[in-house]
Amino acid sequence: MSDYKDKYEMVIGLEVHAQLKTQTKIFGREGCEFGREPNTETGTVTMALPGALPVLNKECINMGILAGLALNSKIPSRCKFDRKQYFYPDLPKGYQISQYDEPICQGGWVQISNKKIGITRAHLEEDAGKLVHAGASGLYGSAYSLVDLNRAGTPLLEIVSEPDMRSSEEAREYVEKLRNILKYIGVCDGNLEEGSMRADCNISIRPIGQKEFGTRAEIKNVNSFRSLVRAIEYEFIRQAEIIEEGGKVIQETRLWDDNSGTTSSMRGKEDAHDYRYFPEPDLMPVEISQEWIDSVKAKMPELPDEKVERYIKSGLSEYDANVLVNQIDMAMYFDELLKKGADAKTASNFLMGEVAAFLKEEKITINESKLTVDNFVKLLDLLKKGTISNNIAKGLVIDILNTGKDAQALVEEKGLSVISDESSILPIVQKIVQSNPEQVAAYKGGKDKLFGFFVGQAMKETKGRANPQLLNKLLKQELDK
Ligand code: ADP
Ligand code: MG
Repeated sequence: MSDYKDKYEMVIGLEVHAQLKTQTKIFGREGCEFGREPNTETGTVTMALPGALPVLNKECINMGILAGLALNSKIPSRCKFDRKQYFYPDLPKGYQISQYDEPICQGGWVQISNKKIGITRAHLEEDAGKLVHAGASGLYGSAYSLVDLNRAGTPLLEIVSEPDMRSSEEAREYVEKLRNILKYIGVCDGNLEEGSMRADCNISIRPIGQKEFGTRAEIKNVNSFRSLVRAIEYEFIRQAEIIEEGGKVIQETRLWDDNSGTTSSMRGKEDAHDYRYFPEPDLMPVEISQEWIDSVKAKMPELPDEKVERYIKSGLSEYDANVLVNQIDMAMYFDELLKKGADAKTASNFLMGEVAAFLKEEKITINESKLTVDNFVKLLDLLKKGTISNNIAKGLVIDILNTGKDAQALVEEKGLSVISDESSILPIVQKIVQSNPEQVAAYKGGKDKLFGFFVGQAMKETKGRANPQLLNKLLKQELDK
């Protein structure tokens, strides 16, 4: 397998379908929430009742523009809808309303760590419903399929990339980045398991050094980051083996099977002309003025890359900034902490350390936890003022996560504040020096490292509450006597 990677290079282009987070469908008034009772969101257009006419949901255009701006696309002054004909039992009209030659977004790019991935275009379209295949046994036995039309007509933005990716890692990074951007701008919840984001993966291989692309296979049904990477790696080897044996890769649509970890042929690839695209006669083209674009632009929230930049400027490492930004709820929470005056570096250390570990263990999100922003800020304040030590604060944050108790109250109740008066620490220091004559002798004989031993003893004695500077000073004083 590794020889194949020395000999061939993979070329990947992705078509990502992102479900837009609108209240209602793209051409009808039914809702499009996930998980409703089957066939309860089925209006006249969805069911293709005679005479039913599509009415475009303006919010879809707004979201399309917002996404386009975030993806550095050009928003043409006009876009239109086209009919794409095919028979699918879960799309009763017998055609899908999509966009063909005049999509809402043209061009653009997404930055991943080592390069920009080009965006060819992004277009709006309606989704199909869902088929549930049941009792599949025998040719005509008890096999039957159920149709749920709830999803039919939910708005999708299909984002087509240039064939710019060269490894499964780059493909994964691209989808993660895209997902993050769409989530931050609020147009898609990016939930791969619920199907609100799906990727069709086009992959071909070519001998390293060759300019022309090879023939591609399109892989459908990839619904997690893990299966995206696995499907690409599998397909690379499959294609390399075909070529090694003197065969030819054929252009086709293949289906990924997560259980077997393989792809299998689903159908030959159809060409655009097979779909008999023609302009949708029931919908007017949409004219998009510069004012319209500007009004959408004015609502653009901070994008993930900008957030990372800001976090780095406020003192976080690039790594930490990225980890936070990749978890949108953590980043939003962190922003609240900053707004209330928390120190960025300290807050992020706690969030990514103790807090993240707790949340992972309990399988809850930061917003579901008992650690409110205000209480967290209070705790960080106590630490900043020197009322409590860092170690005590680490323990307290766990206490708060468990109980939701007020930080100040916990410190008082448990007597956790730092001991900063000499008269309390000095006797402890003296006691430790007296009861460890061997270590004292060794220390005086040049074993400087032993200083840490004495500090440790004193901290143990005070349950971590001794003021470190004062303790150091008194210890030195006693040991140098
Ligand atoms: P279709 O709708 O027929 O799948 P599109 O042109 O809309 O075709 O999308 C094709 C996708 O395949 C794009 O993401 C493109 O980057 C990618 N692609 C095209 N040619 C190749 C190739 N030779 N190898 C890998 N990916 C390719
Ligand atoms: Mg395709």
